[in-house]
Amino acid sequence: MEKLVSLVLLLAFFTATAQPKQICVTVDDLPTVAYGEGNEEEITRKLISHFKKYNIPAIGFVNEGKLYESGKLKDERVALLRQWLDNGYELGNHTFAHTDYHRATFTDFASDVKKGAVITPPLSKKAGLPWRYFRHPFLHIGQSQARYDSLAGFLTAQGYTEAPVTIDNADYLFAKAYSNAHKNKELAQMKRIGADYVKYMEAKVHFYEQASEKLFDRQIPQTLLIHASLLNADYLDDLAEMYQRNGYAFVDLPKALQDKAYEEAITKFGSYGISWIDRWALSRSVPKEFFANDPETPAYIVEAAR
Ligand SMILES: [Zn+2]
Repeated sequence: MEKLVSLVLLLAFFTATAQPKQICVTVDDLPTVAYGEGNEEEITRKLISHFKKYNIPAIGFVNEGKLYESGKLKDERVALLRQWLDNGYELGNHTFAHTDYHRATFTDFASDVKKGAVITPPLSKKAGLPWRYFRHPFLHIGQSQARYDSLAGFLTAQGYTEAPVTIDNADYLFAKAYSNAHKNKELAQMKRIGADYVKYMEAKVHFYEQASEKLFDRQIPQTLLIHASLLNADYLDDLAEMYQRNGYAFVDLPKALQDKAYEEAITKFGSYGISWIDRWALSRSVPKEFFANDPETPAYIVEAAR
């Protein structure tokens, strides 16, 4: 009995002193991905209220091209970016037009990066926040070492730090299916999609945890990619609770990137846009079993996202 008591105490001690795992929430395609629903303010307001409630130091990546309609700057869309900044959430560059580096010339891509940094940097400065991170559209960083190097050199010269992603996922398919259901007022379908989304994202975090363990023998700080959609606006609280239940604390991007795992070299390139964990694994030439059991998007979601 005494042994059992000490075992229980020991376990309690380890649980209490165990370092929480870390996750950084990054949100792409700002100001919003609204699928033409016109609920952009609602999406932004809800996302920010979830960040606040769960102390999530999120960062948003902006496509400044989405601030315009028929060539005219829409003040109400700029106001959405200001909502992020005024509440203390940093923004970064995601190019002007969400240009695909794998389909663009270096010159065109570089000019789209510059074009994407006209409105937001002065707004960030006014809000006392830095402007320093770049997120590649489609996670396309270059199909070869040479193409990667030329872009990386350009980004550094422009004062940017790359913002990698470790938890890549298909939240955009769930979000499109959810928006379709919302347009048709299919409430049961919306609930089903939302619940399955949280389950899918839990399976994804478990997948990248075991990948982290295999590559680094420990849990590295994860960087999550999600989009500024109604689905995330409605379910970010459920997602946040799911991560907390799994032992995660929310950290900001600088804190996550401090981890030396992010210095791991990428030496293999391809036409893919994938998680950095998968890039590091490919670069180490791991056996292909490493990539097995990556959670799949349910077929009904793929269908409903059309
Ligand atoms: Zn994007």
